[in-house]
Amino acid sequence: MLQQKRVNKEMGKNKLVLIVVIIGVLCAAYFIYANQYKKVGVEANQPTDKPILQEENTFPAPGKTVYQMSLYLDINSRTIYGTTILTTVNTSGRVLSDLLFTIYPDAFRQAGSSPAPDPAYYAGFDPGWIDIDGIMINGKMAEYSKEGVSMQVMIPEPVKKDQDLRVEMKWRTHVPKVEYRFGYSDKVFMLGNFYPLLNVADNKGWLSSYNSVFGDPFCFHSADYLVGINVPDNYGIVSTGAVIDRNAEDTGRHDYLIAAENARDFCLGIMYDYNGMYEQYDDLLITVVSPPGHEKQMESVLQQAAGIIDYYSRTWGPYPYKEFKIAFVPMKGFHGMEYSGLIFLQDAFLGSTANQQRSEFILAHEIAHQWWYGVVGNDQIREPWLDEGLANWGAYKYLEEVKGNKITPPVEEPVNLARELSDMYSTREYYHTAYTGGESFWFGLEKELGKEKVNRVLQRYYTDYQFKIANSSNLLDTIREEAGRDMEYYFNEWFY
Ligand SMILES: [Zn+2]
Repeated sequence: MLQQKRVNKEMGKNKLVLIVVIIGVLCAAYFIYANQYKKVGVEANQPTDKPILQEENTFPAPGKTVYQMSLYLDINSRTIYGTTILTTVNTSGRVLSDLLFTIYPDAFRQAGSSPAPDPAYYAGFDPGWIDIDGIMINGKMAEYSKEGVSMQVMIPEPVKKDQDLRVEMKWRTHVPKVEYRFGYSDKVFMLGNFYPLLNVADNKGWLSSYNSVFGDPFCFHSADYLVGINVPDNYGIVSTGAVIDRNAEDTGRHDYLIAAENARDFCLGIMYDYNGMYEQYDDLLITVVSPPGHEKQMESVLQQAAGIIDYYSRTWGPYPYKEFKIAFVPMKGFHGMEYSGLIFLQDAFLGSTANQQRSEFILAHEIAHQWWYGVVGNDQIREPWLDEGLANWGAYKYLEEVKGNKITPPVEEPVNLARELSDMYSTREYYHTAYTGGESFWFGLEKELGKEKVNRVLQRYYTDYQFKIANSSNLLDTIREEAGRDMEYYFNEWFY
């Protein structure tokens, strides 16, 4: 992420029938898809070829977790009627008696606790939320309770180690009028973290998400997604993953079926009267969507994105997905926001007065997150420097090595990188630690080890922790091994 420094209760009967029908189609499609999926994995050197997570006590395990969702968007009430079937295996290493989910839309329920800045509420405060209409776990109704952006669900019959887990959930998300990473403005729905997402459990317990006005207060394991989306005909969609089927209904609506493999999260944009531009680069399809009238900027962003992805792929390791998308959206508080396979960029960058080099830096920063946060996950609450430092440093390296821009990195005294988001009290403090501190760590390391060794560190880190969650000590171990010499004097400057 690059943050801007800041200075209806009852579901209609018809919809119910529709959702049931969609679920039926979805289940059938899933089985067809699941079979294809294995074949693709073997033949096309997809991420499933890589060893699936081997660590003990990691839950919900990547490669074993699938979200099947069915979504119906009601434009008038700005409500998404959703059902989720989440299947996974209890890999936590212990008996599970509860599950913890992140329900981010509830951060927007009340004016006093919304993470969105006041100017983002263009029509005054407007609440957003998620309501749960029922949860079943392994076929039995489950009780739940909510607190902030977390929902604890009690498992009716505790699940033993290695036992299968099937969670069925019916929910409704109301999208508020706010120009933010989750919100609605001018017939554009920006849907980051809009559905219940299962948190990560380790052998100490659950990692909960956090409602913060700055930073990305999340930590999730990657999972596979199969999502059916039903929207009015005149709206288009952009999302994580790839559309594998679409059908026009004679009701004036459209059904999309989307699949995403090894995605850190599932993000969705639904927009009216938008233009799309795409280009195939070898195995990768890049798409840019924006309001009409910005064809020149779209073309330029498309080319820049291709150059950035090519540079990172050569430097760190290949981009693992078949598609990458960029959506220009009305968003305040952030210049850009990263999701798996999709980034949101503030539509202000489409204006003629936008600073071109700054825009390209932000694009390169958000794309770097595909590697750092997306493919190699980290706990963005407890160790935000891990992904933000690499995203910033990567963007500088791209501008320097590909665009030939002279980079004068901010000269920074080492800061304590071992700080959690919840220990920081302002956007400025957060920036100083995670971004400036994080990038300075890498500039300093480059001076210590040289460019080639630093690239080898990152290539190895990327390979070893692909689709997993890495932490600072994993990274420091990788650095130690590649450096082949004592690095404690350097690390001690940055972690205390
Ligand atoms: Zn970032």
